[in-house]
Amino acid sequence: MHYDGILYRPPSESQSLLIQMTVGCSYNRCSFCAMYDESEFHLKPIESVLEDIEEGISYRFRRVFLCDGDALIAPMPYLEKVMSAIKESMPTVERIGIYGDPRSILKKSVEELRRLKELGLGIIYHGIESGDEATLKAINKGVTVEETVAAGLRVKEAGIQYSAIVLLGIAGRTRSLEHARATAAVLNRIQPDFVGVLTTMVIEDTPLYELAEQEKFYMPSRFGLVEELKTMIENLDLKKGLLTSKHASNYLTVRVVFPYEKHQIIKLLTEVLESRDEELLKSETERGL
Ligand code: SF4
Repeated sequence: MHYDGILYRPPSESQSLLIQMTVGCSYNRCSFCAMYDESEFHLKPIESVLEDIEEGISYRFRRVFLCDGDALIAPMPYLEKVMSAIKESMPTVERIGIYGDPRSILKKSVEELRRLKELGLGIIYHGIESGDEATLKAINKGVTVEETVAAGLRVKEAGIQYSAIVLLGIAGRTRSLEHARATAAVLNRIQPDFVGVLTTMVIEDTPLYELAEQEKFYMPSRFGLVEELKTMIENLDLKKGLLTSKHASNYLTVRVVFPYEKHQIIKLLTEVLESRDEELLKSETERGL
């Protein structure tokens, strides 16, 4: 496989064959993110991607994840070529997944997304991080709440599964609960199939780190983050869908099938908050990206 740099993929793609189509992130300006600092964004030559697909045939994977950050930004002919090759040569593959953000999703029409669905694109993961306008601005996400919602709705309209990734702690201590409520409101408008919860890690050499050093950004406490998660879930009104916080960055892992388990999980989080039992939360050393 022609892998360039560190590859990232959602936890739910841990069993997938990773095919790298792009290197880095086409935006690369979010204040908290250092994932692709080392890589200059570029599209890999199609020949090397097709060679990787050829190599992957013998592995008989059921899922393929197309890396890197925001690989959906690739032009349609490129995406069609890659997905057609997977469809034709890897009959065991049931689903292709990819990261996409509003910049790449809204560049594609519903018809184009439907075409990619026909070729096997089964799920798009979108790091929305927050549904709070002030927070999106503060972290330099480069998109508005309305663009976020429009992107999510477009994926849904194309019949592709949509997985929203949200970030606990990203609004800091002062806007924590506003962020939780506003994020729930955005998710309620989109009705994602999946919600993946991550927790902010303040990484050295990022603008967020500098703000923290200057004492202009404070992460909520560990129990403050549980409160934030509880507030988000309380305000979530998903007709169906799965929310998980199994990513390594979280202090607490929950799995909630909506709408059935919502009240049960709120009860559990309330108990955790009342107990103030540190043992119930992951230690700092157990966390990771
Ligand atoms: S968070 Fe996502 S969109 Fe923002 S810089 Fe990192 S990879 Fe790119």
